[in-house]
Amino acid sequence: MKPFATIQELKQQLEAKKISAQELLSYYINRFKTYDNQIQSALEIFEQDSIQQASSAVGQLAGIPGIIKDNIAQNDRMLTCASRILQDFNVPYDATAIKRLKQVGAPLLGRANMDEFAMGSSTETSAFFKTRNPWNLEHVPGGSSGGSAAAVAAGLVPWALGSETGGSVRQPAAFCGIVGFKPTYGLISRYGLVAYGSSLDQIGIFAHTVYDVATICSVIAGHDERDSTSLSTAQKDYTQSLDGRLPDGLRIGVIKSALYAQGMDQEVIGAVEQTIAQYEKLGAKISYIDLPSLDYSAAAYFIISRAEAASNLARFDGIRYGARAVGAKNLKELYNKTRYEGFGDEVKARIMLGNYVLSAGHADEFYNNAKKVQRLIRAELASTFNDVDILLMPTHPAPAFKIGAFDKNKLQMDLQDYFTCPMNMSGNPALSLPCGMSKQGLPIGVQLIAPHVAEELMFKVAHAYQVVTDWHMQHPMNFK
Ligand code: GLN
Repeated sequence: MKPFATIQELKQQLEAKKISAQELLSYYINRFKTYDNQIQSALEIFEQDSIQQASSAVGQLAGIPGIIKDNIAQNDRMLTCASRILQDFNVPYDATAIKRLKQVGAPLLGRANMDEFAMGSSTETSAFFKTRNPWNLEHVPGGSSGGSAAAVAAGLVPWALGSETGGSVRQPAAFCGIVGFKPTYGLISRYGLVAYGSSLDQIGIFAHTVYDVATICSVIAGHDERDSTSLSTAQKDYTQSLDGRLPDGLRIGVIKSALYAQGMDQEVIGAVEQTIAQYEKLGAKISYIDLPSLDYSAAAYFIISRAEAASNLARFDGIRYGARAVGAKNLKELYNKTRYEGFGDEVKARIMLGNYVLSAGHADEFYNNAKKVQRLIRAELASTFNDVDILLMPTHPAPAFKIGAFDKNKLQMDLQDYFTCPMNMSGNPALSLPCGMSKQGLPIGVQLIAPHVAEELMFKVAHAYQVVTDWHMQHPMNFK
C-alpha cells in the first residue's frame, strides 16, 4: 500500500483485487494508530467491526474510508461538536449525507476534531485538544474543520467531510495542502448537520484531488426533502465532465483587490500569480476585476453568523441534549449552570454578541444592515458573472500560523475569513486548490468561485489545473 493514495487509485486496486476492503480498512486504522498521537486529528476512531457493519458492503465507495467532522450526525455514535455540552451525546440518526455514503459502501472511520461548534479558524477552540498541521506540528491546520483536513493531508484517510459557515473547509484545505470544496447553498442537504449559522452552513468535502472531491459530491449532493432549503437539483455524476481541458474561451476574472490587498503575504501573491499564468497557458482569458463589497463582507458575516448562532445554540439547555449541570436549585439555574459549564469562551462570546445585535434597538443598526450588505454581495457577484465564467483569488492571506499566534488578538484571527466568507454570504460554490509552498514548507491555496450550481464547470476548471501541476502530489515527509 502506498500512503496518500487517491480514491481513484484505491478503487482501481480494489477492482483489480490487488487489495481487499478489509485490508484497506486495517491499513488506515493503523495509520491513525501510528501517527495520530502527533497530529490529533480524530476525536474517535471506531472499532473495525462496527465500521464494517454500519455501511453496505457494495457500492461505488465500497472499501474507501473517510472521516467525518464531529458536527455531522452518524447514527448511534457520539456527536460532540468538540464541546463539553455534548460530550456524552449519542445521536440516534444519520445525516442525509452520511446515509448516502453508507448506502454506497463508504466505511466511516470516526469523528474528526474541530473548533467548538465550528467557531474558529484554527481548531484551537475544541474543548478536547488542539489538532496540529501535518506539515509543521507547531502550526495550526486551520479551522474549523481542521481535524478533517489534517487527517487527509497526513494520508490517514483519503477523504473527509467538513462543514462551512464562513470558510471552514477551504481555509484548512489551503493550510494543509489539499482540495476543499464548499457547494452552492442548498446543494448538499443540511439534515443532520448541527446548525451554526443556518443561512450560511453547508457540508463540504476534502480530498487530494478535484476528481475525488467530485466523486464524493456525486454521492451526497442532490435534493433532500428533509431539508427545506435543499435545492431541487437531482443527483448526478460530477466526474463526467473532467476531461482535463478548459472549456473553449473560458474567461477567468481575478479579483485584484483581494490578491493585492493590504497585508497579503508575498509568497501567497507569487503562488497565485503563477496559477494565473498556468491558466493562461491552458487557454483561459484572464481579466482583472474589483469587487468593492468584499471589504464589507467579513464585518457583515461577523454579525449574521453570531446572530444565527445565538438562536441555534439556545437549544442546548441541559434539558433536551447532552450534558446537564448538577446541583441547580431551579430551572433557570439549571439552564445557566449547564450553559456556563458546557460552552467554551469563544462560543459564549458569540452567543452574547449574537443576542446583542438582535436585541431591540440594535437590530436595525447591526443585523438588518448586515443583511443589506449580504444582498449587495450577492448582487455584485451575480453581475460579475455576466462578464466572466469563473473567479479566482487567494484562499487565505498567509500560510498556516503558529498555534497560539492569535491568543491575544482574536479579531485578527477572524480576518482569516476575509476571502472565504463572501461566498457563504452569497451562496456561490467555491473550491480551494493547493497551488504552492512557502519557503518555510507550508502549503498555499488558491480559490475558484463559480455561479450558483455551476459545480460541474468549477470542477472541470480545477481538475484541468491539477492535470498539469503536481502541488496536490506533495505530502508531508514525516508521514510517509
Ligand atoms: N472562521 C469562521 C468562523 O469562525 C468560519 C467558521 C466556519 O466556516 N464554520 O466563524
